[in-house]
Amino acid sequence: MAVPFADLQLQYQNIKAEIDAAIVGVIRDNAFIRGPFVDAFEREFAQAASTKHCVSCANGTDALYLAMTALKVRPGDEVITTAHSWISTSAMITQAGATVKFCDTDGVTFTIDPAAIEAAITPRTVGIIPVHLYGQAADMEAVMKIANKHALWVIEDCAQAHLARYKGQMVGTFGAAGTYSFYPGKNLGAMGDAGAVVTNDAVLAENITRLARHGGLVKHQHEIEGVNSRLDGMQAAILSVKLSHLAAWTEARQQAATFYNLGLSHIREVVAPEVGSGRDHVYHLYTIRHPRRDALAAHLFSNGVQTAINYPTALPFLPAYARFGHYPEQFPNAHRDQRQILSLPMFAEITRAQQQEVLDLILGFNRLGRFF
Ligand SMILES: *Cc1c(COP(=O)(O)O)cnc(C)c1O
Repeated sequence: MAVPFADLQLQYQNIKAEIDAAIVGVIRDNAFIRGPFVDAFEREFAQAASTKHCVSCANGTDALYLAMTALKVRPGDEVITTAHSWISTSAMITQAGATVKFCDTDGVTFTIDPAAIEAAITPRTVGIIPVHLYGQAADMEAVMKIANKHALWVIEDCAQAHLARYKGQMVGTFGAAGTYSFYPGKNLGAMGDAGAVVTNDAVLAENITRLARHGGLVKHQHEIEGVNSRLDGMQAAILSVKLSHLAAWTEARQQAATFYNLGLSHIREVVAPEVGSGRDHVYHLYTIRHPRRDALAAHLFSNGVQTAINYPTALPFLPAYARFGHYPEQFPNAHRDQRQILSLPMFAEITRAQQQEVLDLILGFNRLGRFF
């Protein structure tokens, strides 16, 4: 591929000496499960996320499950989330024992529409899970106002939004907890699966830790039945190395986004990503809208440019939720977007030449389009 969607190999080559040393250190110390490397990463990530506590776990999906289970959701409870996310967000609501209630997005930022939240609240609603999708914070002021008014908890799904802020405040610090994924392709990615929950609530942090460690804080003292969800030492050591580069990588993503924005502003039919007022965007994904999305994706692919659709089917319309009988008019924005969204190549190391190639191809595609 002339322009790959992301380039993890290049990222590794740039920090190879640090990564290799970290891995060797874990092997040397036999620190494979929990231990000092995990403790160190939890401390460092709590600081980076501006929270008092970070509880690491096996992946971002588990992080959602652990946070919700620690908040004691019960069968019959309803949890509100966005129609436009990765399935982990909604699937873990069900897994934790509650019922998923989907809300449409706001039509501009791909994040949950606060007005739709207000309309979805019933006497059974217990919580809201906004997702900072693609790296842009949801409208947290509006979300928290609704949550406080109705005494609901909020868990922020920050899996795509490491270091993103809303009005200067770090995502993941507005509600009861923030959940993170360190899947390799995320802005902060391990070399395998990894995740974490961050919170300022010491009791919640302890309950999440207990749940993630077979129901006990001390070996062989199982106070409850928990699960096994842990970060291993090697991933923790790798994440510590990468965390030290995250601020610079984020800035590089933002600069790349500015370059795309400028280039795309001249191109008809393309809707470049919009950033809501007071919000930060860390561009985990750079996602445009185009009315002839599939033809554009095919044109880019045949010219060596890799793209992705995040996601081809909005959550309410997946077979997994057929039981709810959702229809397009309930989620008009999410339904429109599933046909129009296209994520362009975006990674910290992308060059302006690679981006220009993408822009030229999109421009060429639109010129061609006039004759059809
Ligand atoms: C990646 C992701 C998750 C799940 O993380 P995993 O580590 O893959 O389990 C959850 N929510 C969102 C929005 C994600 O992008």
